[in-house]
Amino acid sequence: MKVITRIAPDVGWLPVSFVNVYFLGQPGGPWVLLDAGLPGRAHQISEAAEARFGAGARPEAIILSHGHFDHAGSAQALAEKWDVPIYAHRLELPYLTGESAYPPPDPTIGGAIAFLSRFMPSKPYDFGDRIRELQPGNLPGLADWEWRPTPGHSPGHISLFRPSDRVLLAGDAFATMDMDSWSGLVTGKRVLARGGAPFNCDWDATRASVMQLAELEPNVVGCGHGIPLSEGELPARLRRFAARFHAPRSGRYVEAPARTDEHGVVSVPPAPFDPVPFATAASLLLVGIALGSGILDEEHQR
Ligand SMILES: [Zn+2]
Ligand SMILES: [Zn+2]
Repeated sequence: MKVITRIAPDVGWLPVSFVNVYFLGQPGGPWVLLDAGLPGRAHQISEAAEARFGAGARPEAIILSHGHFDHAGSAQALAEKWDVPIYAHRLELPYLTGESAYPPPDPTIGGAIAFLSRFMPSKPYDFGDRIRELQPGNLPGLADWEWRPTPGHSPGHISLFRPSDRVLLAGDAFATMDMDSWSGLVTGKRVLARGGAPFNCDWDATRASVMQLAELEPNVVGCGHGIPLSEGELPARLRRFAARFHAPRSGRYVEAPARTDEHGVVSVPPAPFDPVPFATAASLLLVGIALGSGILDEEHQR
């Protein structure tokens, strides 16, 4: 069993495959789960929670940085198991109540995660009456934490910050691993990088969010992807990263963002030409023809 690692007082980190969840609060006291990992991981997360907080432990609430499938995948199962509400930003609710799908990812910006985004689930979740809207200035169960809107990666993306010791949990506002390169994905080498770039549906907002977070000068940073960072140089490093942060040269949401409101997607820029599905379809067709005509069987018999 994977155990929760402490990254700051009362802040626990658990990687669930390639995405992170965080446990905020003290064993014995109230606690909160930030993000709920991939689908099918409820057991892994609740088992780790019991190891940290005791048998039968349940949080005050589940808070979502945003509703992408790798952050909200096990939210419903955990909310049912624990009988707790799920909180998200108002502008994220359409994608968590089945009202709208997210703006489609843009695989044409290039890189590893962009390639993989073609095969990721895009159906919205419907958490029904479990879902609640986060209220300004209030985080359920977390007196010493603040949340702030950090849109761009998704319309209602939020980050959590604890001013007393400057701990920042930034979801996919950025990442502490390079998800754009295959080696970065595999090795998980710790670098400041853009988070889930093919999903960023508003690049100006993404950049503004990164700038805003850098101004917090955090001592500890835990993102949705990558190993959390804590070092003396971190505030300066994050400032340099924010100053250099830019949109890709071209891409679906580079010239104009997806337009969204409290009901979800209003309009998106037209889909750019994406050659890969055609290549994939063409090769599948060829394999199909080969199988249908018995070529492969003959090859095999020879
Ligand atoms: Zn995301
Ligand atoms: Zn993510």
